[in-house]
Amino acid sequence: MAATPAWTDRLDASLPVAIEVLRHGPISRAELARRMQMSAGSLSRLTAPLIEQGLIVDIGEHNDGRVGRPTRLLDIEPTSRLFVGIKLREDEAVGALTDLRGRVLDQLTVPLPGRTPDEVVGTLVELIDLLRDGFAVGGVGIGLGGRVHNRSHVMSARFLGWSDVPLAELVTERTGFPTHVDNDVIAFTEYERWFGAGRNDDRFAVITLGIGTGFGLVANGGLIVDEDYGLGLVGHWPLDPTGPLCEEGHRGCAASLLNSDSIARRASIAVGRELSFDDVLDAAENGQPAAIQIVREAGRGLGILTAAICNLTLPQHLIIGGEGVRLAVLAQVDMTQSLSEHRNPLARTPPIIYTDGDNAEWCRGAAALAIQSFVLGATGASRASGTGRMRTA
Ligand SMILES: [Zn+2]
Repeated sequence: MAATPAWTDRLDASLPVAIEVLRHGPISRAELARRMQMSAGSLSRLTAPLIEQGLIVDIGEHNDGRVGRPTRLLDIEPTSRLFVGIKLREDEAVGALTDLRGRVLDQLTVPLPGRTPDEVVGTLVELIDLLRDGFAVGGVGIGLGGRVHNRSHVMSARFLGWSDVPLAELVTERTGFPTHVDNDVIAFTEYERWFGAGRNDDRFAVITLGIGTGFGLVANGGLIVDEDYGLGLVGHWPLDPTGPLCEEGHRGCAASLLNSDSIARRASIAVGRELSFDDVLDAAENGQPAAIQIVREAGRGLGILTAAICNLTLPQHLIIGGEGVRLAVLAQVDMTQSLSEHRNPLARTPPIIYTDGDNAEWCRGAAALAIQSFVLGATGASRASGTGRMRTA
């Protein structure tokens, strides 16, 4: 696979066009001109250097089924650059090799021998080498549940017992590849914003379910970013004053009702034997009363949380993902009922999109961090990047 030139700021005025083709291609020139709000003439002037450099290609005529001339489409070559996206968990690192659109080409999980920065970085380097299999990559992205500064420095990650670890720098030192680190929910939301279900939205919200409950918000086309994301603030949102206690002593918070550990623990106590999160969902599907009750309570709680998000942020879509997404799907009836009970009946409730809930979605998110930096260049790698800049440029 031939390497295309890096997408750096030297593309200047043409860069927003290239990014639009990356995010929305294959795309006709007419649609591209409409999206960019420019004339056909201006667009031609900006696309010419991109085509000349091989960054975007005319992939020929396409008949969309409507009467009239077939349209010619522009696209990028997605495999012209490869990226590695890694989700760091408590006892393993899950990695994926992706193309320029974050599509997963290969996936691999390796156990962590320990949690010291040295042990973790060693494992990451090994995983990156296995995934790239001799090819150079355009960058590495890492997502983890913690507070991260400037897409590079882990300020704190409780699940690893880390504070102040310059993770991006340590990985770059060992691999030579530009590395970008961020909170996993931020990374997840970035993928959805650039390539996923939110790519046509100005505003959308993400809820992730699993070990924790995560929240991501895009407004005016840009992700709301703050280091305090990593504190998991929405994860302890109060939902039910009569609910169970979470580990931090809140009654009926999101963690107590929705987190996979809490659900497994409560169901295990109720039935008198050890159940995993998935066991509880299986039991609920099979009609076990205690499991059904726990799932329904979770559904009602999730409805209150989604109603609050809709009332406060007016999203065009609500995306629910994470490894615990099956809970939301199973509790859908209670969730949507509770959601509508907590909203003005005249309010427009946005479509809810459920993701697959597999590991790949966390990896794609991590890869999106590296892709954004690769595409936007040095200036775009900063935290302020990615906000509506390419939409208005
Ligand atoms: Zn709590």
